[in-house]
Amino acid sequence: MSRALAPSRRWWSEAYRAGLDLLFPRRCVACNDDLLAHDADAASISICSPCQRKLELIDWPVCSRCAAPVPATGGVTLDCNHCRGDKLRFQRTLALGSYEGLLRQLVMRTKTDRNGVAANSLMELAWRRFESQLAELDIDIVTAVPMHRWKRWQRGVNGPLIMARRIAERLHVPCWGEMVRLVRNVPPQVGLSRPARFRNLAGEMVVGPSYHLGAARVLIVDDILTTGATCSEAARVLLRAGAAEVTVLVPARTPA
Ligand SMILES: [Zn+2]
Ligand SMILES: [Zn+2]
Repeated sequence: MSRALAPSRRWWSEAYRAGLDLLFPRRCVACNDDLLAHDADAASISICSPCQRKLELIDWPVCSRCAAPVPATGGVTLDCNHCRGDKLRFQRTLALGSYEGLLRQLVMRTKTDRNGVAANSLMELAWRRFESQLAELDIDIVTAVPMHRWKRWQRGVNGPLIMARRIAERLHVPCWGEMVRLVRNVPPQVGLSRPARFRNLAGEMVVGPSYHLGAARVLIVDDILTTGATCSEAARVLLRAGAAEVTVLVPARTPA
């Protein structure tokens, strides 16, 4: 499954990229500053170092299932109050940061950014942070939360699908990005209460009949995790279709 380029092709690809950068210097997707000026990893992350330092990346104790902040005292992490009553169907959440400030702006960009620069840059940051955890989880397949075709047509962009493809590429596993589908265009979750968000999606997703999961460990990608209702419903149908376990990856988690 490896997509690594042969050395000569890689040389040409890098030379071509360097030539393009000279002609059209790439810019930070957050502040529009020139990326070549001060960024070693600009080849894969189009967010300049000063902007990266402004991102609210999680460095506090979080619930392993829903990534909400949890209290910790004396080296002991206490139980999560946020997801205890919700029976979330996924096993764990890997969240890059809090849905605030610059990270919030970048996640918003993934919803409209047709060339996927913001989405891919956020996944490169996630890869840098979670590479060893993802390796330990031994993920077999990556997928994305479903977006109804009408919504995709209206937006012209499917951010979670772009992100799922990038992380699958990094993991060298297949991306079955549209394996989970919505059976109808459900009303948006925004503005609904916590229980209503779960009710709104109950029974609204299916796994396409041509996908055979065979006890696969699945990674599902979404842009923001709030209550976890969307990812939980996707995880429910994936588990019913045979998945062994489901992990969620999101660039941002709403502050609890
Ligand atoms: Zn910047
Ligand atoms: Zn939790």
